[in-house]
Amino acid sequence: MTPLRINLEANDIPTHWYNIVADMPNAPLPPLGRDGKPVTPDAMSAIFPGPILEQEMSAQRWIPIPQEVRQIYAQWRPSPLCRALRLEQSLGTPAKIFYKYEGVSPAGSHKPNSAVPQAYYNKLAGTKRLTTETGAGQWGSSIAYAGQMFGLPVRVYMVKVSYQQKPFRRSMMQTWGAEVFASPTDRTQAGRTALAADPESPGSLGLAISEAVEEAAADPGVCYTLGSVLNHVLLHQTVIGLEAKKQLEKVGLYPDVIIGPCGGGSSFGGIAFPFLSDKIAGDKRAEKLRCVAVEPTSCPTLTKGAYAYDFGDVSGYTPIMKMYTLGHDFMPPGIHAGGLRYHGDSPLVSQLVHEKLLEALAVPQVATFAAGVDFARAEGIIPAPESCHAIRAVIDEALRCKATGEPKTILFNLTGHGHFDMGSFDRYLSGQLEDYEYPVEAIRASLKHLPQVG
Ligand SMILES: *Cc1c(COP(=O)(O)O)cnc(C)c1O
Repeated sequence: MTPLRINLEANDIPTHWYNIVADMPNAPLPPLGRDGKPVTPDAMSAIFPGPILEQEMSAQRWIPIPQEVRQIYAQWRPSPLCRALRLEQSLGTPAKIFYKYEGVSPAGSHKPNSAVPQAYYNKLAGTKRLTTETGAGQWGSSIAYAGQMFGLPVRVYMVKVSYQQKPFRRSMMQTWGAEVFASPTDRTQAGRTALAADPESPGSLGLAISEAVEEAAADPGVCYTLGSVLNHVLLHQTVIGLEAKKQLEKVGLYPDVIIGPCGGGSSFGGIAFPFLSDKIAGDKRAEKLRCVAVEPTSCPTLTKGAYAYDFGDVSGYTPIMKMYTLGHDFMPPGIHAGGLRYHGDSPLVSQLVHEKLLEALAVPQVATFAAGVDFARAEGIIPAPESCHAIRAVIDEALRCKATGEPKTILFNLTGHGHFDMGSFDRYLSGQLEDYEYPVEAIRASLKHLPQVG
């Protein structure tokens, strides 16, 4: 029998997170304040606790994972690495396809990998309450769960269109004890401004971030948490790649291609960086390694955005960061992969794409769901719409292998299950989904509002 699942023991949960900053060929550019000067930790201490800020700015290669965090990780980690043998057979490809399955966490995605340490460090620092935003509800539910693990109250500003489309994600957060508001709200200045401009505003991730940051900045006992984009979030997610590496070593393999969905870049950085470090170090095994970040054509940040300094939110409360961006006032269409609708991207992933150490690819919505359904029919697991983006790229790569006869090893990130997204699958199955390519003119228009630097 071909083993389909490569398991590790609780003791194999990584003891350290891997920080790519230590190994990047060029040092990352610092985030800047409105005055154009690098932001000091002091300026950010109103919204983040000390240990998180330290990690955000750290260039130390290995950062210890606290025992309390590893103990909670042990509820579902190490996550399984699975061989997609039936998918390979249905495609008739000589490629070996492996997926790291992050849908086994309590919240159903990779996001608790960072929610747990963020809640832990906040508790340690004496934070009284956490705020955050959520799009599709994946991050909100992860931080609601993690807050509950450490006895920390959580408030979530949930993008209004998702609040209406995904009532059960809201119940999930409430079950874990969080308070959930549909953003824009009238609780914050940012929300009131948006409502005054458009009382029917569907909200956006950038706007919900403004609301959550505003509340945290105004109250010394409240801190803000972010589920992607920032360096410390990518750091926490490296448990994915570190485990996957050990698992592949157990079967004597090393990936030729690593593929992951990319919204803010946290899960992608998490699976890719521990392997990319081998390539940067000149490791023979990684010589031809390709790492491909996959995004939707409706929110083509890495493939059609500008590499420029921009704000992380709509209202310009956050520092400006050098990243690929569609412009901070970009209003994404209501596509179904809610987790991939952010205007920007991780500065680390952005820089490495810019320097051609990582690749990016955009795929259209209908073909993405088609790939997700093919995967579900072959492998049984119903993937999150975000993960379907990676699956589209994996199937296309495997079909190229079929054409050329190359038996490549493909590793991909199955970042979550789609059990809360059946409404989207329903629309696909009933032929109601459409492709949407974000118009170049609209991108050009929102890029006109980038902050001027230097
Ligand atoms: C949030 C999410 C993503 C995208 O976020 P990244 O920070 O880019 O990883 C991908 N897949 C799932 C299941 C998600 O919930």
